[in-house]
Amino acid sequence: MDWQNQLRKSICTVDQLKPYTDISPRQERQWRHIVGKHPMRITPYYLSLIDWDDPEDPIRRMVLPDAEEMDISGSYDTSGELRNTRMPGLQHKYAQTALILTTNRCAVYCRYCFRKRLIGLPTEEIVTRFSDAARYIERHTEITNVLLSGGDPLILPTRVIERFLERLSLIKHLRYIRIGSRVPLTLPVRLLEDRDLISVVRKYGRKPKQLHLVAQFNHPREITRRSSDAIATILTAGVPVSNQAILLKGVNDDPDTLAELHVRLVSIGVHPYYLFQCRPVRRVKRRYQVPIAKGVEIVEQARRQLDGISKRFRYVMSHKSGKVEILGIDGGKVYLKYHQARDPANLGKFVVRKVDPDAGWLDELPRL
Ligand code: SF4
Repeated sequence: MDWQNQLRKSICTVDQLKPYTDISPRQERQWRHIVGKHPMRITPYYLSLIDWDDPEDPIRRMVLPDAEEMDISGSYDTSGELRNTRMPGLQHKYAQTALILTTNRCAVYCRYCFRKRLIGLPTEEIVTRFSDAARYIERHTEITNVLLSGGDPLILPTRVIERFLERLSLIKHLRYIRIGSRVPLTLPVRLLEDRDLISVVRKYGRKPKQLHLVAQFNHPREITRRSSDAIATILTAGVPVSNQAILLKGVNDDPDTLAELHVRLVSIGVHPYYLFQCRPVRRVKRRYQVPIAKGVEIVEQARRQLDGISKRFRYVMSHKSGKVEILGIDGGKVYLKYHQARDPANLGKFVVRKVDPDAGWLDELPRL
């Protein structure tokens, strides 16, 4: 099935899910309510990775609605994205990086998404005039790189992706361009069979600006022959691939799974880059967030099984004040460090807080 058919035949309604799983009338009502709030989309390919005999299947958990999404504790903008928005679809939080929200659509809608507020929904947060965003970047010579994000940029028509890359290539002070995408693992056929896209990736992969792909594999079962081949296509075009996983309750919150994920990523040429603490997003926090203290323990145990390359990911929290690395716990204290900071004065600063076994976010860790 080609990529457009994969999208057309995606599962988007509770009725389409019913042949795959038994649900009670109560559950059905809840799921309809939840999907009405935040749309569902699962490609046939990604659906085929689910083990329907296992109600706790990690792949299923990432994409199927659940009653826990009724819990509205948390916020829809945990990283202060609105505050960093300079024009529709363009965020500028850290001096060197501009972030462009290119679309509100993805091949698969992950239930834990931190941009749940806009994914698959009407929004004014995505870029409307790319030329205006490009002009902003041109004026800000401190910007060395652009991250194309969304939604998933690789869901866009090839001519649109090419137009973005072409325009950004003209900006002299840009050193490289990053594309954040889950398409290699949710819709790999696009990178395997869409000749136009493959030739655009080849054309713009290395010159005039180096392209980087930032993937998001969260579980070793997402690494299949198809997704590995999709990654190989990108690597062959001269585009390095790194991975930003998210620590998710019931998906990868055990040391063995996390270790296997990172070893296998390295084995297919993907560099482990970040492991994100799940943000306290409304309708996400309760279902997916692992407390920081438990997260540290899991990461430490996973690292014991890993070699230098596979353990080089940083365990971080994308807080509104910056990207805070969670370094570890010792003597009842959590040690953190600003890896990136909204206020440059905080860059590299250490933060020490008391351990709270339930705290899932920086603001919840008691001060000393
Ligand atoms: S692919 Fe990315 S942007 Fe889209 S729903 Fe998943 S996590 Fe969110």
